Amino acid sequence: NFRIAQFRRWMLERKLQDAEVPAEEQNNILKHLEKKETEYMRLQRHKMGVEDFELLTIIGRGAFGEVRLCREKTSKSVYAMKKLKKSEMLRRGQVEHVKAERNLLAEVDSAYIVKLYYSFQDDEFLYLIMEYLPGGDMMTLLMRKDTLTEDEAKFYIAETVLAIESIHKHNYIHRDIKPDNLLLDLSGHLKLSDFGLCKPLDSSNFPNLNEPDYTPGKGAKPLPDNTSRLTNSSAPKRTQQEQLSHWQKNRRMLAYSTVGTPDYIAPEVLLKKGYGMECDWWSLGAIMYEMLVGYPPFYSEDPMSTCRKIIHCMHDIGFT
Ligand code: ADP
Ligand code: MG
Repeated sequence: NFRIAQFRRWMLERKLQDAEVPAEEQNNILKHLEKKETEYMRLQRHKMGVEDFELLTIIGRGAFGEVRLCREKTSKSVYAMKKLKKSEMLRRGQVEHVKAERNLLAEVDSAYIVKLYYSFQDDEFLYLIMEYLPGGDMMTLLMRKDTLTEDEAKFYIAETVLAIESIHKHNYIHRDIKPDNLLLDLSGHLKLSDFGLCKPLDSSNFPNLNEPDYTPGKGAKPLPDNTSRLTNSSAPKRTQQEQLSHWQKNRRMLAYSTVGTPDYIAPEVLLKKGYGMECDWWSLGAIMYEMLVGYPPFYSEDPMSTCRKIIHCMHDIGFT
């Protein structure tokens, strides 16, 4: 492309010389051509497609598709390609939402947010070409290490704070901050990814928490074991160690399910009663707890009980 552009320029220069155009005007005309060429290049980039990439190994799987390592054929640069099934997004009525979020991802320029380089689509899929983060995700790290030291936790939490701050500055709420969406780069720094693109929070997946039974306050049934509130003692037969291994066994399965894990979701988001930026800080707290204890604060046998615990906790500490 660059060669063709050079050729076009050379042709134009010759024509201008032959026509004896004054130097200043020649300059202007050439500048105009240059501008057109840049625009043309940009348009070409717009039409980028999946065929411009060599597909390498699968590095992650989400609810609606896969994340693959890929190499751009022209530049040889390596990226992560996330593929989203359009019919699935349509079915969930998430198209406008996804578009807005894609724009935001492209717009936010922070060292703590995964960079989006290109996006394009074909009949079936939407593709996001992102920077590749080879360090794996926080969920995997936590499963491997059980707990982190306080210093390690401090480091990751501090970087997550910066990530959350940078999206809030753009008036955007993530709502789905969890260890699976915290990725590590080559040098061990953390970046936030997955802007609800693949698993936009759809609490219709979760039990209907607005049913009287689950609403805190009047009619709310206390948990069987009322001392359980902030701890995990509602499964009294389990030791800490048993709870940890049960959590780890189920974690990956939950991560790949369409429902996802509700463990880090703020109560107001679950209740669909309106929420603000605070909900992301709630998730951060739940993650910090897991880093230090080994499992998240509202962990239970099944997602439904976890939701119930989250809602009741707010009630118990006097927020509702
Ligand atoms: P989903 O919404 O389906 O959870 P994610 O964007 O979270 O999709 O991607 C799923 C998994 O793929 C992540 O948990 C991570 O392990 C891997 N992954 C996603 N993006 C990248 C990336 N840019 N670099 C490396 N791995 C990634
Ligand atoms: Mg994810």
